[in-house]
Order: sequence, then structure tokens, then C-alpha cells
Amino acid sequence: MAERAILVCDVCGEPASETVSFKVGTRTLLKDFCSKHLAELTAGARRPRRGRKPKSATQLQAAPRRPRRASKKTTTARRPTRQIKDTATLEKRRAALAKARQALAEKRAAAKAG
Ligand SMILES: [Zn+2]
Repeated sequence: MAERAILVCDVCGEPASETVSFKVGTRTLLKDFCSKHLAELTAGARRPRRGRKPKSATQLQAAPRRPRRASKKTTTARRPTRQIKDTATLEKRRAALAKARQALAEKRAAAKAG
């Protein structure tokens, strides 16, 4: 007899409509949700921001408490850019850049039209 896997909501046991993957620490987990519980899950959710975390967030974790000195000087000095030698990485960066440009162009075109 053939077995058919039916996804059920991991909360209530109703047929699931979506499998959600999420990360807890370094572990990536999967959980199935019915539409009701999926709605509950996504209610308070937010989208991840692109790029780095805000400076304060990373510093809070990384650096131990240090007395803050009042300095109004903001560092604008840039780190020396390292040349990317890995072709795979380079290719990815280029693709991402092209995609971003494309998206921007579409956005502008849409703004012009509408
Ligand atoms: Zn459910």
C-alpha cells in the first residue's frame, strides 16, 4: 500500500496549508501550519532588513560595556575595500547589482507612468 504523507498543522492537527522554515540560533527548523495558525504566526512578523544589523545591535552583543565618551565626531573613514578574487562571489555580487538596478528602473518607470 502506498503511503501518502499528509501535512497537518503542528499546532492543532488540521490539514496544513504551509510549511514554515525558521531559524532558532543556528538551527533551521520546519513547522507546518494551517491557515489559521499561519495567520497567527505572521501577525506580528516583520521582514528582515537587507544588509547589516544596526551598529548598536551588534555592538551590544559583541562588545563588553565600555564607558561612553562624548564625542561628536562621526567616523566617515571607509575601510579599504578588498578586491573580490572568488569568481563565484563576484558573479553573485554582479547579479545582485544587476537585479537591484533592474528593480530600480522598473520602480522609476512605474512612478513615471502612474
Ligand atoms: Zn492549526
